[in-house]
Amino acid sequence: MIKKPAKLTLLFSLMAISYGHLNAQTAGPNAYKIAFEPANTRLMKIEADLTAASDIFEMSEYGADQFRGRWAEFVRDLRAYGANGTPLDVKDLGDAKWRIAVKPGEKVRLNYNVLLDHDKHKWAAGIDSVSFVRDWGVYASGRSYFITNGPRSGKASVTFDLPRGWNVTTPWPAEKGGRNSFTARDAADLTGSMIFAGTHKEFVIARDGFELVFAIGSEELFAEEERYRSLANGVMDYYIKLMGGVPNPPPSNPFSRSVVIVSPGEQTDGEVIGNNICIIVGSKNDPMSDLFARFIFAHEFFHLWNGKSIRPKTTEDEWFKEGFTNIYAMKALYRIGAISEAELFGVLDGLFYKRYSTDESYAKASMRDVAGGDEKHKHWGLIYGGGMFAGLCIDTEIRRASANERSLDDLMRSFYSRYSGSDRTYVTDDLKTAMSSLSKSDLNTFFGDHIYGAKPVPIDRCLNSVGLRAEIADGSLKVSRKPDASAAEERMIAGLLGK
Ligand SMILES: [Zn+2]
Repeated sequence: MIKKPAKLTLLFSLMAISYGHLNAQTAGPNAYKIAFEPANTRLMKIEADLTAASDIFEMSEYGADQFRGRWAEFVRDLRAYGANGTPLDVKDLGDAKWRIAVKPGEKVRLNYNVLLDHDKHKWAAGIDSVSFVRDWGVYASGRSYFITNGPRSGKASVTFDLPRGWNVTTPWPAEKGGRNSFTARDAADLTGSMIFAGTHKEFVIARDGFELVFAIGSEELFAEEERYRSLANGVMDYYIKLMGGVPNPPPSNPFSRSVVIVSPGEQTDGEVIGNNICIIVGSKNDPMSDLFARFIFAHEFFHLWNGKSIRPKTTEDEWFKEGFTNIYAMKALYRIGAISEAELFGVLDGLFYKRYSTDESYAKASMRDVAGGDEKHKHWGLIYGGGMFAGLCIDTEIRRASANERSLDDLMRSFYSRYSGSDRTYVTDDLKTAMSSLSKSDLNTFFGDHIYGAKPVPIDRCLNSVGLRAEIADGSLKVSRKPDASAAEERMIAGLLGK
């Protein structure tokens, strides 16, 4: 018999201690088996073998508020069984919660079906936030079908039983040796997930331990695979170089793998759930819908840095999170040649300025004050557009003050190194201080007027100050190059736009 070296024994006992410690806080192991029947892919059949952490079982606390039973509106035939197969009493508490007659630590089996009819209803955030069923497969967000013990649920394995010819794309790491089996960290990792199961194509782009897993739905998009690959590679490289590293989330939300699900649909739309992205590409006959799809991808992808790695303390800084994400999405696409300069100027006017200047709170409320809860979606123009214009203005200040030696890029990089990988968050004054220092000026007035105050951002004046020709007339922002720009101005414009 080989004697274990003392150090190894110590390591094992330390592991046992920390495992025991973990067990005290969370319950596990948990195993979900999810089956789709070829004849009716709208019905998800779920069998969950759980170790109860409490007697309250629930679905995600986010969304589906338009239904009386919230997510439970789509759950059918929920039954529960004890260790020896005895049926357990299930009491529906409403609000997608149930009390099941089980004690913490006891085993319980849940059997239930989820009818994936979400796409037959209206959703404020679009069907990409819930589920949809197509000829080539099924998209489902974790919140639409997982029943867990909430935050106290432990690690879970998830195994899919799929119709012949199908595969499944998930954000979770694959379980060794298991076919279509994965391991999720906890309930948040389950409900914050998205999957695509079907005859789609999957490809992975990896950098420095971070993986972006693409699922491209329907054959009509297969021909675009190369285009998506090169778009994703180009945008990823630009973001990594800009920020100084791959997404680096806080210890409370670890991830090294994100899923991007791309499917054709009626209207171009996009959604981030957890650390994953769903994009619906609208009709191919509309060139704008293709441009929007690229823009939405670049925008949602940058949130893995600005939003998930660098995080605001409150919703008051959504203008920075959303507006600056727009700036870098635009710069990334322009940099890699995925949009032309004419398209960029066109989007600045037709999308951002239009929605900014027609926001019902334009010139009436501060972009910080309209970002809480549902208000955020009503004030897309003020937050996404206004925030973007505020950022572009500040970039022109920094570039002029430093002869184009410094820029907003330095701010992004310094915030990434200061906040990423930690649970620290920023507030508006942190932004003001860092931007003032980069522009070697006091940005008190700018922040007082346009960030804390309701005064419109003078985007035309800012763009003119670095040598562009910008004019606001008849509710439009017209931007063009001026023929007599100096070499110094040309350099500032190139930097501002991302070249
Ligand atoms: Zn966003």
